[in-house]
Amino acid sequence: MRLILLGAPGSGKGTISEVLVDKLHLFHISPGELLREEVRKQTTIGKEIAKYIEKGELVPNKFVVEMVKLEIGKRKDFVLDGFPRSVEQAKEIKDLKIDAVISLEVPEKVVIERFSGRRTCPKCNAGYHIKYIPPKKEGICDKCGERLIQRKDDAPQTVKERFKVYHKETAPLVEYYRKRRLLHQIDASSVPEEVSATVLELIKTLKKK
Ligand code: AMP
Repeated sequence: MRLILLGAPGSGKGTISEVLVDKLHLFHISPGELLREEVRKQTTIGKEIAKYIEKGELVPNKFVVEMVKLEIGKRKDFVLDGFPRSVEQAKEIKDLKIDAVISLEVPEKVVIERFSGRRTCPKCNAGYHIKYIPPKKEGICDKCGERLIQRKDDAPQTVKERFKVYHKETAPLVEYYRKRRLLHQIDASSVPEEVSATVLELIKTLKKK
């Protein structure tokens, strides 16, 4: 299965991706994670792109598109989480066979609340929420034992900018994929277990077709 997850910042793309990796063994391709890794390692690219991520802006295509294409090229089944983020990026992968595009729909006020409690593992990228997806031991990653952090770009001012960018650049992809008959819209405002159950059910139906 080759899936694209669409959704505003905080809509749960990362969390649902983790479930799809776990249950369906899809390979997770997240440009956000790949880019943050470059920043962490302070590579040449990392030094150039840090400012975009910190401001909540999209990293220019020249850094992202080839990076993602390289990852896609190696895989048969995958879930794309955070790519494409613009119609221009979608056009870059227009010849790629995609089974479905799942749009996670959440009202903005729910997402704002999610951000305040969001925690991330800087080592293995696992995502948590202090209320909805708490780690077993407070502040510590269940998977690798690393201390959890709040992502720099989860700060309120940056979140605001990320929303602005989402509405301008990414939201038009809903119509783009609807026209191509690939779009499936899911109410993603409830707890992670419910949303993932809905997504898994949808995928089951798609597989039968
Ligand atoms: P994410 O982890 O998906 O929330 O992405 C975090 C940040 O990485 C975004 O706010 C952008 O700065 C950058 N980023 C992630 N995916 C893309 C993309 N497809 N195109 C450009 N920038 C991206």
